[in-house]
Amino acid sequence: MAVEIQERADTFRQYALKRAVDLKKLVAPYLQASKTIPTGLSLSEVYRSRRTSILNYFNATLEDWENWHWQMTHRITDPHVLIDLLPGLTPDQCEEINRVGKTFRWAVSPYYLSLMSDTDSLDPIRLQGLPTLAELADDFGEDDPMGEKITSPAPGITRRYPDRLIINVTNMCAMYCRHCQRRRNIGETDTHSPRTQLKAALDYIRANPEIRDVLITGGDALLLSDLTLDWLLSELHAIPHVEIKRLGTRAPVTLPMRVTDELCSVLAKYPPIYINTQFNHPKEVTEDAKKAADKLISAGVVLGNQAVLLKGINHQPEVMKKLNQELLKIRVRPYYIFHAKNVKGTRHFVPRVQEGLAVMEQLRGHTSGLAVPTYIINAPKGGGKTPILPQYLMSLDENKAILRTWEGKLVQYETP
Ligand SMILES: *Cc1c(COP(=O)(O)O)cnc(C)c1O
Repeated sequence: MAVEIQERADTFRQYALKRAVDLKKLVAPYLQASKTIPTGLSLSEVYRSRRTSILNYFNATLEDWENWHWQMTHRITDPHVLIDLLPGLTPDQCEEINRVGKTFRWAVSPYYLSLMSDTDSLDPIRLQGLPTLAELADDFGEDDPMGEKITSPAPGITRRYPDRLIINVTNMCAMYCRHCQRRRNIGETDTHSPRTQLKAALDYIRANPEIRDVLITGGDALLLSDLTLDWLLSELHAIPHVEIKRLGTRAPVTLPMRVTDELCSVLAKYPPIYINTQFNHPKEVTEDAKKAADKLISAGVVLGNQAVLLKGINHQPEVMKKLNQELLKIRVRPYYIFHAKNVKGTRHFVPRVQEGLAVMEQLRGHTSGLAVPTYIINAPKGGGKTPILPQYLMSLDENKAILRTWEGKLVQYETP
């Protein structure tokens, strides 16, 4: 009897070992590809030396670098300064940036510039930060594909859902992303919403008790001063039906020094706070970004990521998988992957839906469920976030379903 049990256990072990060999083979191509994808943590040395050259150019100190106001006042907006800081830029590229910049404004923080490749014009950081001629193709897209103009029941508010809404607090950002969905709001002047407008927005929230979730965004919510954030969060905190507060910001990616101890002590006063940011490429997951994430987490903030699926930047399944795995290492939970919207001047970034599906197919089952965000297409005309999944439910009858597993096996499942 004991021998028989032992023999069966051996057979099971043999089966599991064979399966483990197959699983190892399954992940091998990714591991190979992954070696060629740079990450912010692997490039720490390179970034540090780029930081030194930029500081030398501005005749500034490390202390300046760590000061977010210094970063904002030293944003690079002039192609002639840019060419000094990125000597690999050709005169043609410089002229291109100059020309496109007259139609679509650009600005890059010294920090974000330090992540850019000097030589590779297809570098994912450069593509997000520096304008290219492709933006001038004007046969595509809308200014306001989300229909935000028609979803504002009160000043500064966008409401599209039953229980939650957005307060727009600023049109400022540390960097003007080339794929920005709100380019129409990024005019010649940077402005925070006036206090009177914020007060009107708060009045609307107070008057509508079904609003339990308020998302503060813009622009970049963390470009508000600590003082204004403190005031706004305290007002929201005092509204009994507001259960959670959220901030939308790219500061952890483009301006991580914004996350100061002072900011964190403001945020810590008003839990629960959720911050969603936008990392789009593993190169953005740097030591500084990790430091910012660590501080926010110590202040009790819960961190999530809303990536945008961008052609030539992260539409390749291996890149998106690596991005999500790098984010988990710094305790940022992948929340959404947004299909890029049809915004004027961004056609070159918009992938096909098939490409988004291919990304999702390579995530589920292949990596931690924690690294699998929801893939979203925003329905045109402000129709709302619509989740898109590869087909896993092949058919469904009264009590019988045909499922396709993550490995593509068809199996039948029956309910009682
Ligand atoms: C995206 C969005 C939200 C938040 O949506 P979640 O799916 O809850 O993250 C809220 N209001 C508006 C208008 C939005 O566009």
